[in-house]
Amino acid sequence: MPLLGFGVFQIPAEQTEQAVSDALAAGYRMFDTAAAYQNEEALGRALKNSGIPREDLFITTKLWLQKAPAEQNTRRAFEDSLTKLGLDYVDLYLIHQPYGDVYAQWRAMEDLHRQDLAKAIGVSNFYPDRLVDLILNNEITPAVNQIENHPFFQRVAYQELMAGHGVRTQSWGSLAQGKNGVFTNPVLTEIGAAHGKSVAQVELRWLVQRGVVAIPKTVNPARMAENIDIFDFELTDEQMESIATLDTDKPLAFDHHDPEKVAFIANFDLDD
Ligand code: NAP
Repeated sequence: MPLLGFGVFQIPAEQTEQAVSDALAAGYRMFDTAAAYQNEEALGRALKNSGIPREDLFITTKLWLQKAPAEQNTRRAFEDSLTKLGLDYVDLYLIHQPYGDVYAQWRAMEDLHRQDLAKAIGVSNFYPDRLVDLILNNEITPAVNQIENHPFFQRVAYQELMAGHGVRTQSWGSLAQGKNGVFTNPVLTEIGAAHGKSVAQVELRWLVQRGVVAIPKTVNPARMAENIDIFDFELTDEQMESIATLDTDKPLAFDHHDPEKVAFIANFDLDD
């Protein structure tokens, strides 16, 4: 898995083909979508039209919450995603949300992995208790946990816990979704100026330098080029320590422990 990819959350289906084509031209080879983003078909079209060999691409999609019987429905949902993407396999298949009958969904994911239809399987938005429970009571350990991770919610201890279990941390909201004045943050701005880099580049460099995989989203080709141009500089220990002071230890975008959010996700039916 590359350390840097491209996310397509909140890109409307009608804009996704162009955005992905632009991202491919900018050099991205890893793409992150989900059944819930409703743009898998457009992503698949852009990949096909690019003519880039399948083995040079790394494609992730995610399973939305499945009703009972969750095991069978997971298989059906996967097949639906694969058809929409126009692919024979995905590189990474993730349980999108840590709710519902996660065990039944995971058993079906394990089968998809054994059949080589999902080269790797993992989860997203799992807090430590649920992740450890899933690991200790199943055969296959998730390869990845994709979680909210940016300078305001750093989750360093959790990253270490996951690494101890062989789980790679992948960051969503790597740019803090532009929230909390991130692009004018004085600490990040000053560090960027010292390297001739933007705040976005500092945030992304900070993640990959920690070994966290990042998948920033943008529909702007100039920003696509900017966000991938982070491998020619290194943050010093002192700069890493300054960024550590920005941690609030709280989610900024979505609190998966909030019962109202749990209900929102449970009621979000992709078939409606
Ligand atoms: P993000 O990447 O942190 O931020 C995206 C925002 O930053 C957009 O408003 C974008 O605007 C702007 N932006 C991008 N590059 C910029 C730059 N260089 N300078 C200034 N602004 C810039 O947020 P995200 O989309 O929420 O997260 C990234 C990906 O993670 C998603 O696309 C999705 O694949 C994944 N994700 C997963 C989950 C999950 O539950 N697993 C949740 C959320 C996201 P423009 O497009 O206008 O440039």
